[in-house]
Amino acid sequence: MHDSSARSTHSAPAVRPSACPGLLRIVASRDGGICRIKLPCGQLDAHAARAIARAAERHADGVLEATNRANLQIRGVQAGAENALSHELLAAGLGPRELAADDVRNLLVSPALGLDTAFDASPLARQLLDLLERTPRFHGLSPKFGVQLDGGESLAMLEHPNDIWLSAMSNDAAPLFAFGLAGCPPQNETDCPALAAVTAEQVPLLVETLLHLFLDLASDGQTRMRHLREMHSDEVLQERLQQRLPFPLHLGPRVENWRRPSPTAFAHLGIHPQRQPERSLVGAGFALGRLDSTTLLALADLAERFSGGQLRLTPWQSLILPDVAQADAAVVLAALANLGLVIDAAQALSRIVACSGSSGCARGLADTKADALRLAERLRHAPPAGVHLCGCPRSCAAAHVAPYTLLAVADGRYDLFRRADGVAGFGQPLARNLSLDAASDLLAAPGAPTDA
Ligand code: SF4
Repeated sequence: MHDSSARSTHSAPAVRPSACPGLLRIVASRDGGICRIKLPCGQLDAHAARAIARAAERHADGVLEATNRANLQIRGVQAGAENALSHELLAAGLGPRELAADDVRNLLVSPALGLDTAFDASPLARQLLDLLERTPRFHGLSPKFGVQLDGGESLAMLEHPNDIWLSAMSNDAAPLFAFGLAGCPPQNETDCPALAAVTAEQVPLLVETLLHLFLDLASDGQTRMRHLREMHSDEVLQERLQQRLPFPLHLGPRVENWRRPSPTAFAHLGIHPQRQPERSLVGAGFALGRLDSTTLLALADLAERFSGGQLRLTPWQSLILPDVAQADAAVVLAALANLGLVIDAAQALSRIVACSGSSGCARGLADTKADALRLAERLRHAPPAGVHLCGCPRSCAAAHVAPYTLLAVADGRYDLFRRADGVAGFGQPLARNLSLDAASDLLAAPGAPTDA
C-alpha cells in the first residue's frame, strides 16, 4: 500500500527498516507519508479517535484509511512532520507499552469479541497482546507476522491467513481452542485440519512456546510460519512443540474432524443483537476503506452518545459501535449512513475493495480508487460477488483472494480473474486488457465471461 523507502523518525529506539508503516516508521508514498496506528483488538475510544483525527489534520491532509487488519492509518503525512506526529500519537496513549513492540502488535480478533459468544475471549486476547509486547525476543518478528484468536463469534474474518491461528471449538463457557500454523481455521472438508487443541488456560503458554520454536528453527530470511512449514512437516512441528510443553496437546479424530462453523456473511454491516440483553452492535463500512478526519470526529461524538465511547474497527475496512441500546440502534445506523458510510450488503460498495492505486502509490498502473467508484456506480443495481481492484500484483488491499480480481495492466485497463479452487494467484483468468466498462459488463453477468 506504499512504495519504496521508509522515512524513519528519529525517536528511540532505532526504527528498524521495513516497507510496512508503523507508528514510528512513517513510510513514503506518492501522496505523502503513511503512519499506521495498531489498535489493540481493533478497539479505540472516542478520546483516541479525536486524537487521531486532530493529528491527521495537523500533520497530514486529514485522510485516513481503515486497514484489513482492523487498524487505522494516516495518509499524506507532510515531510518533516513525522517525529511530531509520532510523538503526538504516543502522548495520546496510542503506542505500545514498549516502543520496540510496535511491529509485533498483530493480533486479529473478531470485532464482536465478547459480544456474541458464551465464552468471552477478551481477557485471553489481552494476555496474548501482553505476551507479544513484553517479550523482547518477539519484537524481532516480521511486522507481517500475525496471530488470530477466534472466540467462535458469528462475526469473524476467516479468510486472512495468519502465522498462528486459534479457534474456539464450541460455543460454551469452556471451549477447547484448536490451532494451526500458516493458514486459517478449517471450514470445509478439504481444508487443512487443526494441528491440535488446548484449553483456554493453556493458550498463552502455547503461543509463547510456538513463537520461541519458530525463532529457534527459522534461519535467515525465514520470516513467516509458512517458511517453516516448507522445511518441516506438521508432524515434526507438532512433535517438537509437544517436547517443550508441560501439558499434553489434545489430538485425535475430534480435533482432526473439527470444522469451524461458517460465520454470518456481511454481519459487519447493519444492526445485530448481542448476547447482552437489550444491546446491539451497529456496523458500517468506509467506502473503499477511506475516511476523513471530520468523519472520525463525528464517529467519536456518535460513540460517546450511544456506545459508551467505544469504537471497534473490523478487518472489512469498516467499524462497529458496540453496546448500543436496542431502542437507539436504528438512529445510530441512520447517522452512520448520513456520514456516508456503507450500511447494507445490497450497496455495491460493500463488495468492492481497491488499493491506493496510481493516485497514492508509485507502483500503481491505474487509479484503482477512482475506477472502483465508477464500477460501484455501474453495478449499483447488480452488486457483484466481491471485487478487488489491484494497481499491481502485490495485492495490498486484500489479504485473501477475492471472488473476482481486476488487476491493472495500464491506466483504466484491467485483466479479470475469478477465484478457483486449486488455482494459484488471483485464480482463473477470464479476460485480458478490459476497459472498466467492459469489466463491469462482465461482472454484472458473472456467468457470462468466457475463459481467456
Ligand atoms: S497493490 Fe496497489 S497499493 Fe499495493 S503496491 Fe500495488 S499499486 Fe501500490
